[in-house]
Amino acid sequence: MLCMQDGRSLQPNGFAHLLLNDDGLCWWCRERPATTGEHKYKHSDLKRLMSGDEVLYWGDHEQFRELRGKSGIKRDRHGVVKFPKSMCGPCNNARSQPFDLAYDRYAEYVTERPTRKIPGLDFETVYGESWENDLLNLARYFGKHFGCRMARSRVPVPGSLRSFLDGATDMPDAHMALITTDSVHRLYRHGMYIGPDGVHVSSDCSRFTGYVMAVYLGSFGVRYMWSEDEIPDEERSQFFHFPRPILNYFRTEEAVMRGDTRKPGLLVRFLQWAQKPRNDSGPTS
Ligand SMILES: [Zn+2]
Repeated sequence: MLCMQDGRSLQPNGFAHLLLNDDGLCWWCRERPATTGEHKYKHSDLKRLMSGDEVLYWGDHEQFRELRGKSGIKRDRHGVVKFPKSMCGPCNNARSQPFDLAYDRYAEYVTERPTRKIPGLDFETVYGESWENDLLNLARYFGKHFGCRMARSRVPVPGSLRSFLDGATDMPDAHMALITTDSVHRLYRHGMYIGPDGVHVSSDCSRFTGYVMAVYLGSFGVRYMWSEDEIPDEERSQFFHFPRPILNYFRTEEAVMRGDTRKPGLLVRFLQWAQKPRNDSGPTS
């Protein structure tokens, strides 16, 4: 976890007193005991990305991993595929099944895309007429992923994230955007990548004031940002409200943390202009 305070990074002992103790409850329903761990990387993705005995590159900011052949997927000796147990069985399975189904269709679509030089993703193509509901469920899939990371990092899960998973259609203090990041694309365009968990603490070190996290499948990622203050509507155009949300370009992961987008290349800018997407789903900057 990367922790920032007033623009500089904080050593782990500077915020250790803010970390939650594990109460053994599911972070989503807060009722039943946490008996299951969510997959960090879905088996279906790993299998889809790896045809035959190819090498698949995947990892997070701490470790770069190679998986050789499909038999490698089954071995999870070091807990690299699953998060620690932080959810109950019903939440991790039945309650989130619509999220998984929406994600599978998205995953098929993005792993078949030949290029990231596109102005945005087309969710009407992915989901057809039911795109509105399916896209919300896709965003909830990512919400569940980010919630599991918060539980792993022992930071509080925002109430807005839990309400969103419960069926709310927006999060007034959080923003989700579709992204592509040059440094991640170079290494993981045929793999999967989990970025660092970035958190901010208040000047007096009394509480967490914000989170930024991203996760990628191939070249395409989703960036989640939470702020203790409500985010103004004009800075919070959520990708999951639009049939063709634009893709936000970043150079590095540090830029993703800061929210510093770069201009897309000329071709993409031309396509954006030509297609005139109906929205702007950019992160705040
Ligand atoms: Zn639960």
